Amino acid sequence: MNRITIAIDGFSSCGKSTLAKELAKQLSYSYVDTGAMFRAIALYCLRNGLIQEDGTEIYKIKEFLDDITVGFEFNEEKGHGEVTLNGENVEQEIRNLTISRIVTKISGIKEVREKLLIIQKALGAEKGVVLDGRDIGTVVFPNAELKVFMTAATKTRATRRLNELKGKGHKVSLQEVEENLRMRDHNDTTREESPLIQAEDAVVIDNTNLTKRDQLYMILALAEQRINQENV
Ligand code: C5P
Repeated sequence: MNRITIAIDGFSSCGKSTLAKELAKQLSYSYVDTGAMFRAIALYCLRNGLIQEDGTEIYKIKEFLDDITVGFEFNEEKGHGEVTLNGENVEQEIRNLTISRIVTKISGIKEVREKLLIIQKALGAEKGVVLDGRDIGTVVFPNAELKVFMTAATKTRATRRLNELKGKGHKVSLQEVEENLRMRDHNDTTREESPLIQAEDAVVIDNTNLTKRDQLYMILALAEQRINQENV
């Protein structure tokens, strides 16, 4: 059976990765979390003093890019890859508000995007892959057979992300989370390099009032339709 490429783009904290992981599992496809790759580079910059926690003093990043390797390591138990930075699994360390605050400074840098684009294209080269991010359907895989653009009300997204962070023991407020989402959405949609825009041929899902299950079955049905089309 032919395998397709599924691109899931959209605003921050819309549940893209939850949907992408589940889709990949149901279809026995691989899953690539491209946001985690930008977060890993942000972590490298933070650890090496190339950026401050408040996002200021970004310098020399371009000179350091050759020293950075970003990849994925398969977690058998979870059934998907976890991001690695120079061989170290940093999946947990990149999921906090500090990284969320500085990551758009990093993702706006042309050379960073160029570096990650090469890796992302290679990871999806064989098809049979679900990728989530901001520019998958527009830049990374513009010929993806299925493109989904996800959105949801800001309050709903902030509340979901707050619960997720609290569940991991982070001490954050709804206001901080909401501010971060608004800031990232603004930076991601207005940057010069590969901004977040809806691909013309994307299926739009506003999941403010949808359950995870509803979304999954909607997209799974579309994916099966596209797979069958490819087989004709
Ligand atoms: O998806 P996640 O929220 O983890 O992504 C973190 C950040 O990485 C985004 O806010 C965005 O700035 C950047 N990103 C991007 N392009 C992608 C994926 C993520 O610019 N394809």
